[in-house]
Amino acid sequence: MGEVPPGEAPRGAVLQRDKETYMIIPRLKGGMLSAEILKKFAVVAEKYRIPMVKITGAQRIALFGVKGEDVEAIWSDLGMGPAPTGKKILKSVKICPGLPYCKNAQQDAMGLGLKLEEKFMGMTLPGKFKIGVSGCPNNCAEGWIKDFGVFGRVKGFTVIVGGKLGSRPSLGRVLYEGLTEEDVLSMAEKILNLYKENANPGERLGKVMERLGHFDLMPPAGADPALR
Ligand code: SF4
Repeated sequence: MGEVPPGEAPRGAVLQRDKETYMIIPRLKGGMLSAEILKKFAVVAEKYRIPMVKITGAQRIALFGVKGEDVEAIWSDLGMGPAPTGKKILKSVKICPGLPYCKNAQQDAMGLGLKLEEKFMGMTLPGKFKIGVSGCPNNCAEGWIKDFGVFGRVKGFTVIVGGKLGSRPSLGRVLYEGLTEEDVLSMAEKILNLYKENANPGERLGKVMERLGHFDLMPPAGADPALR
C-alpha cells in the first residue's frame, strides 16, 4: 500500500506548489462533524505529521503537506474517501445550520442541502458550479454569489441563479420564491440540465443565462424579494 506509479497523483490527492507534497480533502457530508470524526482528524494529523489542517471556504477540511506514500493509509485511518475534486465537478453544497439550530432560521437548510448534495454531488459539468443553501435571508451560505443559491423565508424557499465570485464577481438573480423542498430539488435539476446542454467549456451559469436571454425576464441582480 502507498506505492503510486511515478508521475501519477495518489487517489484524491492534489500536488502542491512544492511539487512534492499533496493536499487531500475527505468527503464530509454537509460539512457536518462529530466528536468521533474530529478525533480521527486529530489522530491522523499527529500520526502523519500533517503541517497544515485547514477549513476551506466550502466547509470542508483540507490536509496540506501530505506525503504521497501516506495518502491511502490516511483514507483508511479516517474511514473516509476523498471528496470530489476537479474544476468541472460539483464538489459540495455549502449549507448553513438553519432550523432547528439557528435563532434566525425560517427553513430547514440542512435537510434541503443534504438532499441536493446527495442527488447532485460528483456530477460532471461543463464548468465550475457552486450551490449554497441558507435557512433565512441573511444568506450565510452565500446564495447571492453561487451559481444556484437558496434561502428560506417563512413562506418557503427562494432560488437565486447566476451568481459567482472570481476576478469578475457578480450577484445572482431571484428565479422563484415560495418554493417547497421538492420544488427546489426539481428546479436544481432543470437548471443543471440547462447548464449542461448550453454552456461552453468553463462558462459559468450566469453567462449562459445572459447569453440565452433568460435574465431579460428576471429582476435585476441582487434584488431582494423583500424589497420588491
Ligand atoms: S442564514 Fe440565517 S439561518 Fe442560516 S446561519 Fe445565517 S442567520 Fe442562521
